[in-house]
Amino acid sequence: MSIFHSLGFPRIGAQRELKWALEDYWAGKKSQAELESVGRELRARHWAVQARAGSAFVPVGDFAWYDQILQWSTLIGAVPPRFAQSDKQPVGLDTLFRMARGRAPTGTPAAACEMTKWFDTNYHYIVPELAPGQTYRVAREDLFEQIREAANLGYRAKPVIPGPLTWLWLGKGDAFGGGAQDEGKLELLDALLPVYAEVLKRIAGLNVEWVQIDEPILALDLPPAWRAAFARVYEHLANTGVKLLLATYFDDLDDNLALAAGLPVQGLHLDLVRAPGQLLPAVALLREDQVLSAGVVSGRNIWRTDLDKLGAVLAPIQKKLGDRLWLAPSCSLLHVPVDLAAEAELDPELLSWLSFATQKLDELRWLSLSLSGEPSAQARDALQTQRRALQARAQSRRIHSPVVQQRLRESAHVPHSREPFEQRIARQQKQLKLPAYPTTTIGSFPQTAQIRSLRRNWRSGQLSDAAYEKDIRAEIERVVRFQEEIGLDVLVHGEPERNDMVEYFGELLAGFAFTQNGWVQSYGSRCVKPPLIFGDVSRPAPMTQAWSMYAQSLTDKPVKGMLTGPVTLLQWSFVRDDQPRELTCRQLALALRDEVNDLEAGGIGVIQIDEPAFREGLPLRRRAWQAYLDWAAESFRLATSGVGPQTQIHTHMCYSEFNDIMPAIAAMDADVITIETSRSNMELLSAFEAFEYPNDIGPGVYDIHSPNVPDVGWMVDLMKRAGSRLPRERLWVNPDCGLKTRAWPETEAALVAMVAAARTLRETA
Ligand code: GLN
Ligand code: ZN
Repeated sequence: MSIFHSLGFPRIGAQRELKWALEDYWAGKKSQAELESVGRELRARHWAVQARAGSAFVPVGDFAWYDQILQWSTLIGAVPPRFAQSDKQPVGLDTLFRMARGRAPTGTPAAACEMTKWFDTNYHYIVPELAPGQTYRVAREDLFEQIREAANLGYRAKPVIPGPLTWLWLGKGDAFGGGAQDEGKLELLDALLPVYAEVLKRIAGLNVEWVQIDEPILALDLPPAWRAAFARVYEHLANTGVKLLLATYFDDLDDNLALAAGLPVQGLHLDLVRAPGQLLPAVALLREDQVLSAGVVSGRNIWRTDLDKLGAVLAPIQKKLGDRLWLAPSCSLLHVPVDLAAEAELDPELLSWLSFATQKLDELRWLSLSLSGEPSAQARDALQTQRRALQARAQSRRIHSPVVQQRLRESAHVPHSREPFEQRIARQQKQLKLPAYPTTTIGSFPQTAQIRSLRRNWRSGQLSDAAYEKDIRAEIERVVRFQEEIGLDVLVHGEPERNDMVEYFGELLAGFAFTQNGWVQSYGSRCVKPPLIFGDVSRPAPMTQAWSMYAQSLTDKPVKGMLTGPVTLLQWSFVRDDQPRELTCRQLALALRDEVNDLEAGGIGVIQIDEPAFREGLPLRRRAWQAYLDWAAESFRLATSGVGPQTQIHTHMCYSEFNDIMPAIAAMDADVITIETSRSNMELLSAFEAFEYPNDIGPGVYDIHSPNVPDVGWMVDLMKRAGSRLPRERLWVNPDCGLKTRAWPETEAALVAMVAAARTLRETA
């Protein structure tokens, strides 16, 4: 039987136990001892699940109080000076929490460390802060304690730590202005490597055979200096008394494969779900003393694995490698929910197609048994059940809609473009009669406790449809009246009916399903419950038309319809794996196209399609960018090109890094794009300036993440700066993002000031 193992298990708990314990601890409702005991219970439970499934080792170090990168940064004592950490004392739990959140039950508050997305996932890590001359030391004991904890419970521990080069790559510092790849960071290796070696030696002293050292940056385009550093680093870490399994994931190692296999490490883990093509080259490169950990069960998605197909691919490899072939999920299981057993409400058919973290370990056991050539009767049954489920899924009428597929084929012949922008904008101007520097908002207005309870009561059946509709309409009217009163030019309905910009649409579209407990950690104690896109997507009935039309009926000013774009719906869901993502995206676009057309038919002359996830959909490797950008921009055009030239299409993106993707942004051809810029003082408009972006643009003039009310003069100044970079007649005035997380008083004051700024601009600029 082949050895199998997991690279890491979700730490949050099937019922989000860690979340509740952390939040109680932060609120002073639980002691540190109580929090630690919840952590211990979760670790023991998760190890038991993995060991029971037959995993050869249990990962240790995948448990983190907030984030695994922060956990490591504190272990090696990389604590920024503002947290006043003595370099003799251990780094305590509250210092770790202050780094993550700025404050903790004890210790002086200080600015939290930055947080950013973990590769192409929706998980966020705490960015290590680096400085020249930074020193490192072993400053926390919990990794070693947890190794003992696992051993005491009778498990073989396999510690998991971030590799030094990945840790540096992810880190930032004022002295290293060159971004992730700044070579200056490599100078820190001199100080870092001895501490790594010390940690590994201490681990060796705890009777550990294997350590998993994660270097996912090997799946990125690496500059030569970083590639060159690998040999030096791993030679330094070669003789510490443990065997190293170098783990990579999320993409193809490609040009880094030979480099990785040539390092003095005893094993290599590859993501063969994302990049199956690297299997044979890796086998060819593998040395006699090395194991290959084949990441064959997706750690990023929730569908059952085709074990027959895998068995056929792996059987000859196993013949060749014997015990040197290990099986594993493609990456840590952190990115999938814990256990399907918690899904009592999903129908049995859909349920039979799914596999969460716990089930994925079973899949690995069955695969391993089937590769052994003599599967037990039980394993044969399990394989047979798996086979039937996959066959049923492949043929299910719930998934495959001939109508949608027909439409998709025909869509290739639907024109995706509109009349040229100059002509469109002239017509729109005639229709909308907007002043210079038109003002608008991004869509949502404050989501008060009252609105949230309205939705809750309606969902639970306590509130009738009629009563719910009446109350939501009242809220829309309030928001419309307010916008009219303060003099905004393009109004919105305020989105009171929406809990979440993806879930709301997912619930109204065919082809989506929702779990009850499919939580995945996003950062710290925050979790998300991504929808499942399981089948062909279509729109059975209009989704937003009635609310938008109601809002428009209240006013003579234009009301902007509000939709979530195809790429964002795709990015923030678990997407079916039986067709390319691109096709699913086009189906989403077609469903949205129906809605866009219906909005226009309902008298809505301005329609915004939010695409905050457009940039994060970029593949990790640059060579794959263009293909993605092409279909992503085309999906947007497919959704929006069914309307007449007089209808104004807006889009919104919550960030300001556009440097690499300007041609695609232009290819979307929205009439107006609103983006975040206030925090960067409009500096980031330079991408639009350099590109000579032709369409209208609304650079956000104030930061909605803060309750501070922006100053009129400051906003005027920002817009003047924007006007020095872009044609003034192309500029709009709006906040950075939606207002749903804000309270009413500051929202009122901020928008009144924003309208005043626009008036000043009209008079003076
Ligand atoms: N229309 C959405 C809102 O205003 C946009 C949210 C987003 O960009 N993330 O809330
Ligand atoms: Zn936004």
